Amino acid sequence: MSGIVIIGAGHAGGSCAGFLRQYGYQGPICLIGSESVPPYQRPPLSKAWLSADMDEDDLYLKGPDFYALNQIDLRLGTTVQMIDAETRHVVLSSGDSIPYEYLVIATGTKLKPLAYKGADEVGYYQLYQMHQAKALASQLKQGARIGIIGTGYIALEVAATAIKHGLKVSVFGRGERLLRRVASLSMANHLKSIHENKGVSFYLNSSISHLSQSLTHEKCLHFDNGDEMRFDLLLAGIGAVPDNSLAKACGLRGHSDIVVDHEARSSNPHIFAIGDVTSRPLSPHYEGLHHLESVPNALEQAKQAAAAIAGSKPPMVDVPWFWSDQYEHKLQIAGLLQADSTLIERRHETGVSFLHLTRDHRLSFAECLNNPSDFMASKLLIAKKIKLDPTDLSERPLKSYLTLT
Ligand code: FAD
Repeated sequence: MSGIVIIGAGHAGGSCAGFLRQYGYQGPICLIGSESVPPYQRPPLSKAWLSADMDEDDLYLKGPDFYALNQIDLRLGTTVQMIDAETRHVVLSSGDSIPYEYLVIATGTKLKPLAYKGADEVGYYQLYQMHQAKALASQLKQGARIGIIGTGYIALEVAATAIKHGLKVSVFGRGERLLRRVASLSMANHLKSIHENKGVSFYLNSSISHLSQSLTHEKCLHFDNGDEMRFDLLLAGIGAVPDNSLAKACGLRGHSDIVVDHEARSSNPHIFAIGDVTSRPLSPHYEGLHHLESVPNALEQAKQAAAAIAGSKPPMVDVPWFWSDQYEHKLQIAGLLQADSTLIERRHETGVSFLHLTRDHRLSFAECLNNPSDFMASKLLIAKKIKLDPTDLSERPLKSYLTLT
């Protein structure tokens, strides 16, 4: 009897299997993952787990008995090589094939490799899987020099962890600022000064030409202007691209990703797609399709697909949100960065919030550093599209706007 096949046992795929049972689906579920370990959380790989502040058991989404108890056929170390959408089968690397009634694609992303000459020979760390974090953690030794290529959240979180372990940290970016696509310039500059005060050196607008290894096994970065810098270890944190090769081969709608609707359904009525591999609608909060790489998005789409398959009520579309931990600071972000917004800064004892308003004075994006109450209120203000008064917004408690509705 064919049931549900889920490709990808990551955050989205692993959660979807659980939600299917929670919502009452009683047919067979087969969860297939290339990695050799059960579904786990990736965020701690650049934060608490990298700093050895968290046990391995706490990384896993579910306890060891969960899958067997819930009759979920978990196949680890197994890669799906092809989807035959005509006959509704997936073909495994072993050559076996598994039939499905509904297929859920949750293949996530693939890391972008460093494209510089010499990079592969010299060797560098990347963070996506548990074993990569384990390998990097073993090298975070007092006094070692780490060169981090990339200025996104993962790069900055590793910088913070490395400083905590007493390393000398240098961060390289091609552009003139940090967090180019995901944070405002104000928050990017604020975080940069926090890192600089902790001892991180930034090299922005840097133009790396190639990599080489010295006779003493140091890793050398060479720059277009002829300069050279030497490190004990290198990390590339230059982002990832959706892993949509299976979807592309079977003709699903999408460019570099898989386009889905509010139920996480793809252009094929028997195929759902969830998590980092998708582009999805976020209405009523935002127009158009959006590609999000975050745990809240993976969970929400896992619920959407499971609800649609099990015939239960779909979850409400939440305002997108994200978090990052760096040193003792917690950044919480609600909404999406929009062009042409007006910025309001709210300073408080422990941090700062940057609020971004649309032309008609509604909140569209909020970056709250060490201020969970601003963050919680911001999510609701965005969801309810409440009009704000920019003249008193830098002082007035945000939740007071909520009580007016
Ligand atoms: P993934 O978790 O990437 O899982 C996809 C799985 O599919 C992988 O295990 C892959 O091996 C498997 N797979 C792919 N192809 C096949 C195939 N053909 N056959 C079988 N299996 C296959 N998000 C936040 O919200 N906050 C954070 O602070 C945060 N920090 C992060 C830190 C790090 C270091 C990383 C790497 C990510 C972080 N993220 C964070 C992002 C978050 O982890 C992802 O958004 C989330 O994991 C997406 O889940 P997913 O299931 O879509 O993809």
